[in-house]
Amino acid sequence: MMLKYLFLCCSIVVSLAAFDYHLQPKRIAKDVYCFFGALENISKQNGGNMVNTCFVQTKEGFVVIDSGPNCAYAFQAYAQMQKIAKLPVKYVINTHDHDDHWLGNSFYKEKDALLIGPLTYEQNIVPGMQTRMERVLGERLFAGTKIVPLDKVVKNRYGFSLGGKEFVVTKLVNKAHTEGDLVVSIPKEGVLFAGDILFNGRLPSLRDGSILGSIKALDIIDQMNVKVVVGGHGYLTDKNITKMMRGYLTQMKRAILNALDNDVSMNEITKKVNMPQYKKFKLYDVLHRRNVLDVYRELELCIEEEE
Ligand SMILES: [Zn+2]
Repeated sequence: MMLKYLFLCCSIVVSLAAFDYHLQPKRIAKDVYCFFGALENISKQNGGNMVNTCFVQTKEGFVVIDSGPNCAYAFQAYAQMQKIAKLPVKYVINTHDHDDHWLGNSFYKEKDALLIGPLTYEQNIVPGMQTRMERVLGERLFAGTKIVPLDKVVKNRYGFSLGGKEFVVTKLVNKAHTEGDLVVSIPKEGVLFAGDILFNGRLPSLRDGSILGSIKALDIIDQMNVKVVVGGHGYLTDKNITKMMRGYLTQMKRAILNALDNDVSMNEITKKVNMPQYKKFKLYDVLHRRNVLDVYRELELCIEEEE
């Protein structure tokens, strides 16, 4: 059964001369590497490679943070890891349940890695369901990709060590980018994988999240003693990367609270809060209007609850 499954996953993908992701690991700290995805939406042209995934080398094996958009991507990421060291992948941690971050899981499960993720994965991800990624990529690019359950669900905090390195998986706030965002840190080395709590170079999506929770999570990250931080999307990895996201969120919060004070209706809000200084960031045209509407709803509800 296992062998048959392995055959189905990888050889079909390879034999179809699957999309070549041209993955090149970038070293961001000692033993820490990331594949940085394009600052775009999912498309057939980018094969879903619009997400950052990372891996950490230890003496006993690799820890992977987010497994990417499909089986072929994971297969190619693994091949790159093996060029660095012939070591097994022992853990795969999913930062949240959006499908660009975990659809490579089945590949690593076949390699006997332990899959770790948030409660929202267990709640929202059902084997056999059709994902947004599958809809956009189509059958050929999605070949061999399966939905598999997690081995370990993290509700608040989970720590483990591997090959001399200590890892901590934490849920920082109730709701930031989603209701189940996990961050992964290597405290002794000052490295943090923030998932989609942190975007840079492109606008975030607030569709499933909370502006108030997102700002709170950024506050926590800024107070952590970290030297290298990588977000789910965006190329920067220095400690100051929270700046763009914080600016966008706090300016939007202020503008919408002000508009609510002045009884601006939902129909008018996107015209009032267009924040042109963010037009230079990728995906402004796709995401900004919707973010404004989502934040309007959230803040309006907060005000109602306070009254
Ligand atoms: Zn994402």
